[in-house]
Amino acid sequence: MGKKVILTGDRPTGCLHVGHYVGSLRRRVELQNSGDYEDIFIMIADQQALTDNAGNPQKVRDNIDEVALDYLAAGIDPGKSNILVQSMIPELPELTLYYMNLVTVSRLQRNPTVKAEIQMRNFESNIPVGFFCYPISQAADITAFQATTVPVGEDQEPMLEQTREIVRKFNSLYGETLVEPEIMLPESAACLRLPGTDGKAKMSKSLGNCIYLSDPEEEVKRRVMSMYTDPEHLQVSDPGHLEGNTVFTYLDAFAEDSQVHEYCPDYATLDEMKEHYKRGGLGDVKVKKLLIRVLQDVLGPIRQRRSEYAKDLSYVHEVLKKGTERAREVSADTLSKVKASMGIDYNW
Ligand code: ATP
Ligand code: MG
Repeated sequence: MGKKVILTGDRPTGCLHVGHYVGSLRRRVELQNSGDYEDIFIMIADQQALTDNAGNPQKVRDNIDEVALDYLAAGIDPGKSNILVQSMIPELPELTLYYMNLVTVSRLQRNPTVKAEIQMRNFESNIPVGFFCYPISQAADITAFQATTVPVGEDQEPMLEQTREIVRKFNSLYGETLVEPEIMLPESAACLRLPGTDGKAKMSKSLGNCIYLSDPEEEVKRRVMSMYTDPEHLQVSDPGHLEGNTVFTYLDAFAEDSQVHEYCPDYATLDEMKEHYKRGGLGDVKVKKLLIRVLQDVLGPIRQRRSEYAKDLSYVHEVLKKGTERAREVSADTLSKVKASMGIDYNW
């Protein structure tokens, strides 16, 4: 007991975007390099992706490579973190099956993230059963690796709560077996739920409002220049609003004061720049140009490393196989403990 283990992951439904970066990926790299964790598991959740992409398994398959490339490019080090593929671990659906008996249909219906996702996907009453149950399979993922810490974005809070309920229920029914995980949310408000470039919902692969880690520099520029700011800020001299101003939200998430000062020497800090914007006299184009430079500082090196790894997919697949192997060891151990606790380890 007492050892610290991380589980986190992404659905291979598209390339990773800057929302993933500030919401989870950047933190993972820091945690990985902190040396505070005994084991780190980063899951490419292809089975979860299939719950709302059953008609398009090729898309899920193709995006496993893309997500793995994004991980390596962002600084996930396979010597320190295990990158694994969900469908290659048969212990996970078996755990899911046992946990399904510990959750009611009405409890699943109350999950606010799942509710929002059902609406977004226009499922109405045609909700796939697998999709409806994915919070249970996520509980299996987290507990299989005996994870203590789950660094994810805000939308994952209900999943963590569901997992903790399953753990408590399991342990009280069958005896202390599973580890109760803690969520680790991003520190700043902007990173909790980075909005899309349209300024509306959260940035999400399914909504097409993303800046991807793999986007070329020109595309990032184009995206930023067309970003939503303050509709009442018509002339440079008009006072501007920061609330709901996506460009400033992105600066909050990405910019260091030192970068603000370097690229806009009139200001020592981002706060000074914000004050000027609120007073009036600072144009949107200048703020957008700053954001473009800040994003380039982050994305330039990622893009560079990504193109190197993309030349050697067989290396990437070796990384996935090795990470998955280690993940299987741990999840097989958890499954046998679970079955022993339930008394269904028939040693005939
Ligand atoms: P999909 O639309 O397929 O659900 P997604 O863009 O929501 O894709 P996920 O794979 O569901 O991405 O999320 C992976 C991780 O990234 C989760 O921890 C989630 O909380 C985090 N995350 C996703 N979008 C954002 C965002 N806009 N801001 C902060 N964190 C985010
Ligand atoms: Mg999502």
